[in-house]
Amino acid sequence: MSGPDAAISRPSPNFGDRRDGLRPELVVLHYTAMPDAEAALDRLCAPEHEVSAHYLIARDGRLFRLVDEDKRAWHAGAGEWRGRGDVNSRSIGIELDNCGHSPFSEPQMARLELMLCDILARWGIAPEGVIAHSDFAPRRKGDPGPRFDWRRLALQGLAVWPVPASPGRRPDESAFLAAARAFGYPVGEGFVPVLAAFRARFRPWARGPLEAADMAAIENLARRFAVDRPAPRA
Ligand SMILES: [Zn+2]
Repeated sequence: MSGPDAAISRPSPNFGDRRDGLRPELVVLHYTAMPDAEAALDRLCAPEHEVSAHYLIARDGRLFRLVDEDKRAWHAGAGEWRGRGDVNSRSIGIELDNCGHSPFSEPQMARLELMLCDILARWGIAPEGVIAHSDFAPRRKGDPGPRFDWRRLALQGLAVWPVPASPGRRPDESAFLAAARAFGYPVGEGFVPVLAAFRARFRPWARGPLEAADMAAIENLARRFAVDRPAPRA
């Protein structure tokens, strides 16, 4: 079995009901930044920490289920994606056992891919709905970080990856932010954190000032995946 049925049950008390009848439309990937899976599970199941996730995948590929998918796990915190907040009510959270600086293991990636196939199909979530914690909280969060292989997921239709046709135009901060906003980033957090989050996911080798290649990549993503946003509240 490959789906959540294969999970080891490790219930966390840290969850509630999804608000306003919201259903998962996103999958958020995290790293635990802990030494091992046991330490992370202890923390995610301790009432005093008030954090959790739906799943944790250990380095050896073992899958733990902490919170039922129809419940609201507490993994996202404050943030906004595509102009919408309360990411916890809109998402399924998957923690990857990783200290933050190491490569993600093959058994862990293989398990994650099986999980994503299953979750995306069951909830009708599109590949662009699979996002990083850092995507919607760029000022606060850096996970799953530059070692995570987003391209590998995208090649299987489990995430998205930029495929720009041209080398890109002259770097321009406001044009970059406009495209980043169209793709989903909360650009009110500022240019520097948004560029850092974008690069951690799509151009982890890039350093220094905005480049034409950043422009080409974000504009390609914006063109392919821009969504209508809710009208601003009066
Ligand atoms: Zn996280």
